[in-house]
Amino acid sequence: MRYLQTFFLLIALMAPVWAAPVTDEAAAEKLLARARAILSGVGLTVPRQILLKLRTRDELMVENNSSGGRAIEANGFYRAYNPESIWIVSGLSEEETIGVLAHELTHAWQSTEAPLQDRKLTEGFARWAEYKVFMAIGASGEAQTLRRSPDPDYGGGLRYLLDLEQRRGAAAVVEFARTQTRIPD
Ligand SMILES: [Zn+2]
Repeated sequence: MRYLQTFFLLIALMAPVWAAPVTDEAAAEKLLARARAILSGVGLTVPRQILLKLRTRDELMVENNSSGGRAIEANGFYRAYNPESIWIVSGLSEEETIGVLAHELTHAWQSTEAPLQDRKLTEGFARWAEYKVFMAIGASGEAQTLRRSPDPDYGGGLRYLLDLEQRRGAAAVVEFARTQTRIPD
């Protein structure tokens, strides 16, 4: 009997590891709603619906090329028009999926709130939003991976904004992203 209890306890503990990859748009929509809620809590709100498209990696590449997409990340991209949409690779884990969605949702916010920024602030702030979502859902390992990124824009921008947050709070980071055009080197 005790062995049986131990067995079920182990199953419960391992459930997150076994969670099915995100392969349908309804599941992705739920994660997008969760990312929206978390980011609204730090003052980063996109007050409009955005179309969500879940596709294979090949389909995503073709779509990005044909639409002249400017910023393709490994696992997704944001398109500002015709129609405004977030495109994401199918089959990522739930954590990876919500991270990409938070990142691309932040690019949607930037498209109306602060469209003229350098790459370091654009990508650093999108990574900061990802970081906030990871911390909110208890995915601190993913958050630390972002923080350690050697990329001067993605990693360096994030570290600059985390330092700003530590000194002046999350609201100051959002205000910085709304009003500034670049992060100093
Ligand atoms: Zn990006």
